[in-house]
Amino acid sequence: MLYFTYKEFLAQIFPEWKRVRKLPLNGGMSCPNLDGSRGKGGCSYCNNKSFSPVWDKAGVGVQEQIAEYLPRIRRKYKDAGILAYFQPYTNTYAPVDRLREIYEPAFASEEVIGVAIGTRPDTVPNDVMELLAYENSRKKVILELGLQTASDKTLERVGRGHTVADFTDAVKRAHEAELTVTSHVILGLPGETMEDFERTAQTIKDSGVSAVKIHPLHIVRGTRMAEEFERGEFGLLSFEDYCSAVARFIRIVGNSVAIERFSGEAQNETLIAPDWSGDRNKIVARVEELLR
Ligand code: SF4
Repeated sequence: MLYFTYKEFLAQIFPEWKRVRKLPLNGGMSCPNLDGSRGKGGCSYCNNKSFSPVWDKAGVGVQEQIAEYLPRIRRKYKDAGILAYFQPYTNTYAPVDRLREIYEPAFASEEVIGVAIGTRPDTVPNDVMELLAYENSRKKVILELGLQTASDKTLERVGRGHTVADFTDAVKRAHEAELTVTSHVILGLPGETMEDFERTAQTIKDSGVSAVKIHPLHIVRGTRMAEEFERGEFGLLSFEDYCSAVARFIRIVGNSVAIERFSGEAQNETLIAPDWSGDRNKIVARVEELLR
């Protein structure tokens, strides 16, 4: 096989379901990198509006969101298992009792077969890990930890507010709690080269995460990075360079790490560049050609 797909990974962990669909939910949490507890400006590329369909649902209860979005998925995928996905912002950023309340409608729903929780690696303290371990005994929990890059220098430059060591520590503790862990990376952050992408791939492989989502860097409106880009402070990868980086990344992580996706996501009015990232089929075809 060219690479281990996320679909195959889901089939392994949910063997009774032929198809699994993610249901994005907004848990109404903020982010410590936005509210001042770790940083105020957030990551320099961050605009949640650009990547989550539920970015503006913070005031809507989780139960209500499930009731609103589930029928839409069901119209298209009648028999799919539903993986609830707490997506925008930092979905472990609240006291444990509050988190339990926020997650409960997803864990209690008969339609939901598992719960994916997207968060920062420095925002999963041990008491939250214990809660997730308990919830994992009810339904499969997939903890999605954003790494973005294995370069502390780049993490600092883009204002992530955490280190690579925070990531490896969180993955280790999550594995000790018997959670399934996946990650997100960005290829093409300012100043990075193939060597950085290779180091990031090696870190992902060494961490033992089960899957990784690879994004090209998107420049979106309303971010500090958009201003830096417009001032010409860095350049973006070309289509060909991005595909080469993805192919190299996949070769390094090998077939033990599933590839959730590697095409672009920010395809709405917020996107400034690159102009090729919306062409999913072209990206997939070229990466697969390179892998072959
Ligand atoms: S951690 Fe996530 S939500 Fe917080 S500022 Fe960075 S990208 Fe945005």
